Amino acid sequence: MTATEDLIAAADAHSAHTYHPLPVVIATADGAWMTDVAGRRYLDLLAGYSALNFGHRNRRLIEAARAQMERVTLTSRAFHHDRFGAFCEQLAALCGMETVLPMNTGAEAVETAVKTARKWGYTVKGVPAEMAKVVVAGNNFHGRTTTIISFSTDPETRADFGPYTPGFEIVPYGDLTAMRSAMTENTVAVLLEPIQGEAGVLVPPAGYLPAVRELTRERNVLFVADEVQSGLGRTGRTFACEHEGVVPDMYVLGKALGGGLLPVSAVVSSREVLGVFRPGEHGSTFGGNPLACAVALEVIAMLRTGEYQARAAELGEHLHRELGQLAGAGRVRAVRGRGLWAGVDVNPAFGTGREVSKKLMDRGVLVKDTHGSTIRLSPPLVIGEEDLDWGLDRLRAVLGG
Ligand SMILES: *Cc1c(COP(=O)(O)O)cnc(C)c1O
Repeated sequence: MTATEDLIAAADAHSAHTYHPLPVVIATADGAWMTDVAGRRYLDLLAGYSALNFGHRNRRLIEAARAQMERVTLTSRAFHHDRFGAFCEQLAALCGMETVLPMNTGAEAVETAVKTARKWGYTVKGVPAEMAKVVVAGNNFHGRTTTIISFSTDPETRADFGPYTPGFEIVPYGDLTAMRSAMTENTVAVLLEPIQGEAGVLVPPAGYLPAVRELTRERNVLFVADEVQSGLGRTGRTFACEHEGVVPDMYVLGKALGGGLLPVSAVVSSREVLGVFRPGEHGSTFGGNPLACAVALEVIAMLRTGEYQARAAELGEHLHRELGQLAGAGRVRAVRGRGLWAGVDVNPAFGTGREVSKKLMDRGVLVKDTHGSTIRLSPPLVIGEEDLDWGLDRLRAVLGG
């Protein structure tokens, strides 16, 4: 067996099989590139599902982490620490909001958003006890906890994990009429991804998000935007909602907020909404820790310049122009997306998404399939244009003609 096969066998022997990774074993990474244990280099066109928006081992972020590691890394929220106030203030400002509730993973932030909306519903809106409902979209992906999978429509995600948490109504994504019908006086929130990532980078019909904004405002319902994957520069704006001129009541953030170094997530909203919590009602040992705050502060500073958003917009235009030429060429059925983010539907006759991913891997490009025959591309926003073109050449070699 090769070293690679040995390492994969060891992982398979001692880990729960919750993933089916491509047969590559990464040893080091830098920027948009990863190197495996055999010394082969790969262009990373997945970027940890947007967790690596600023690339692998971004120097500014590494330096911020290193400096903080020499001071203090963890206090728990039992005590104050000197990075916390600045983190909350600057993240709120980036979002154009007032108040931050920090957590670690995206799923925890979504759970936090659900708890917030429920408590807001009971204590502010006046919904009768135990009656609060949250409207969500079909084909959503919001994480893997018991409550979150309760409102998934993906059987793979859900089956055999019941009993499920009640209190959710699922409507088709992009269907305003269905959403209006699903709403009652007990609806406390609409929870949506402004672009559905896992579903295949699905952009909703133009006007949908503004209409949801209008409807939720009319009905006194919170509009919660899960921007864990779509936010922080990926689509060419700080938030995907901005493309439609929409400001939700609450942002759910994660992935890129941790700069690819550690998990950092947060719910960001108004003082009124997040003000429903009292000490002891919610929390996390690691949420808002000094190291997380130091890294996230640097992420926020980088986003404040707008350069990463501009880069995602510019390179994204290039990406979609090039991918557009592949669409309809036989092996590619459709291409969607926004900014430096694309879903490529491969003709199933040509192979599954995984088979295509494997072929790309053999040519030095790493991507991830989703839902059978879709490949999704989310390169680091720091990727060089020449590197992106190199990757596109490999995509053309596998999917063209
Ligand atoms: C990845 C993701 C999550 C979950 O984040 P984790 O950090 O994996 O728990 C939630 N919502 C969206 C839209 C995501 O893409």
